[in-house]
Amino acid sequence: MNSVSKAWRPEPRLTDHVDLSIVVPIYNERTVLPMLYGRLRRVLDPLEISYELVLVDDGSSDGSGDDLLELATASSVVKVVRLSRNFGKEAALTAGLDQTCGDAVIILDADLQDPPELISQMLAAFHDGSDIVCMRRRSRAGETWIKRLSAHLFYRLLNRISRVEIPEDTGDFRLMSRRAVNALQLLPERNRYMKGLFAWVGLPTHVIEYDREARAAGTSKWNVLGLFGLALEGITSFSVAPLRWATSLGLLVALLGTSFGLWIVIKTLVFGNPVGGYPSLIAVITFMGGIQLLSIGLVGEYVGKTYFETKKRPLYVIRDVVRNPAASSRTNPLPERKFHAASN
Ligand code: UDP
Ligand code: MG
Repeated sequence: MNSVSKAWRPEPRLTDHVDLSIVVPIYNERTVLPMLYGRLRRVLDPLEISYELVLVDDGSSDGSGDDLLELATASSVVKVVRLSRNFGKEAALTAGLDQTCGDAVIILDADLQDPPELISQMLAAFHDGSDIVCMRRRSRAGETWIKRLSAHLFYRLLNRISRVEIPEDTGDFRLMSRRAVNALQLLPERNRYMKGLFAWVGLPTHVIEYDREARAAGTSKWNVLGLFGLALEGITSFSVAPLRWATSLGLLVALLGTSFGLWIVIKTLVFGNPVGGYPSLIAVITFMGGIQLLSIGLVGEYVGKTYFETKKRPLYVIRDVVRNPAASSRTNPLPERKFHAASN
């Protein structure tokens, strides 16, 4: 291992076994952090279980990282994982999951759109034998109808074309057993569409419905383009159906072209050949050009994905893992695969 990757190497993780780990990805959420922490403590303390809060700073630029460090030194239940830069929510989640040591792990958003009050209900389902407790949104306050409609259509399309059943209207808010987390960690892909990966794991799943609240403070990190990218990511990660569509479309167009050719031959034989057809020629050429570009783009989407997978870059780079030293004593180093990956 070279010296660069050594510099990246975080301190060995300090862990004790806990009953529950909560993973929260955080990117520029300074305004909601005190609320988040307060509400989590209010919900978790009365449950009388041992727990840890794994707060992942995904390269925030608003000072969230500093606030988190303060929290980690002040509170014995907080473990802060700071990434070296912004890697995106999916990578931040993966980093957080890799640092957990609970029998059960719950993922929730920092903005309190996923109410921590439901944790006891999730734990009850877990104790009843479910490995995954999925939270399905019954309503989504504070989200535009465009976002709701596009999400609705997207889930339906994705389930129709992929072999993995991805529960509709569920987000990353969920509970996973240690077994499910271990299975998830076996998936090495760089293109991480987490909702799909969770579903891929399978295992007994229980679904609980809830009303999604509006953001407690701050602004959503998503825009239309970002969501479109995520949708494309979801589809191309879990299905090659679009490639088949391109083939079918090609077949259809070839069939139409042949019929059109036959029609011209017949027309010429029956009615003679008055030269013309310039507009139809242009129409056919542009139509064909459009379809060809679309298909090449589609193929490119998959080739691009393969390209990034073959690089085998690490999913994230950890700047540091900070935890109140009083919190625990046993050491348990991080999984080796992260370091192999970091040295590439
Ligand atoms: N997030 C992150 N990295 C990013 C973008 C978002 O860790 O690059 C976190 C963010 O702090 C929040 C969660 O992902 O805890 C969900 O983000 P957001 O609320 O903006 O998404 P929405 O709820 O609008 O889908
Ligand atoms: Mg949100």
